[in-house]
Amino acid sequence: MEIASITYNSGSQLAKAIRDFYSDRRQKQATHFKCLVHKMRALERQVKQLNLKSAPRSLDKKQSYMQKLASSIRTRVRLELGFLRKLSRSDTAFIKMASAAVENILNCFSGDHQQCRKHSRVCAGTRGIQYTHLPDNKAVKLSVADLSAIKMQIDRYFDESGLRQVCRLYSTNSCESLNAAVFNYAQKSVCWTRNFTALCHSATHSRTVGPGIGTVQLAEAAGIRVRKNSVMYRQLLANDRN
Ligand SMILES: [Zn+2]
Repeated sequence: MEIASITYNSGSQLAKAIRDFYSDRRQKQATHFKCLVHKMRALERQVKQLNLKSAPRSLDKKQSYMQKLASSIRTRVRLELGFLRKLSRSDTAFIKMASAAVENILNCFSGDHQQCRKHSRVCAGTRGIQYTHLPDNKAVKLSVADLSAIKMQIDRYFDESGLRQVCRLYSTNSCESLNAAVFNYAQKSVCWTRNFTALCHSATHSRTVGPGIGTVQLAEAAGIRVRKNSVMYRQLLANDRN
């Protein structure tokens, strides 16, 4: 089996697994990607924690202001990257356009839409622009220092090298969902000695082909004959497809 790419998030402890993977000389170099979802989540958290001088003074208002600002930046990044990925054939083209789009976000949020027509796939840059996604439903008014503080955080995650790490927009969601399935089968509260491998095997089957068919395959492997034309079998198939 040849692995084309590996996607992970910065917090995951994959170093050993990756070392083992490459220690097998037959393995070709796989492309490494970072998880887009984790990156966006980190950006939102960092922006939310910024102490902006031109944000509202009172603690309550400031909190909700920062929350809304951070989440709208995250949403805007996600939308821009999603549209651009569909438009661009090559990764290089994507990174170039995405870079310009991300760079333009703060201008757009501040009410300066000169570059939007050229660089944004979300804001048309024409009259009648709505700001309902932004705090107080209007364009943000922030000092130059505050804007550059936010820009620094955006660049930290989505500068050119950051965009290259997420250029296929891969995420670790499917992995995490498999993890959840494994621990559904083999609860963490039990210390497994012998059955853990088999339970992981079942979990993987159930995620790949659906829980119903997974069980049927398991039964067949154990030597139980399953009647494929029975009503129950068809019911299982139908359930797994939904
Ligand atoms: Zn705009």
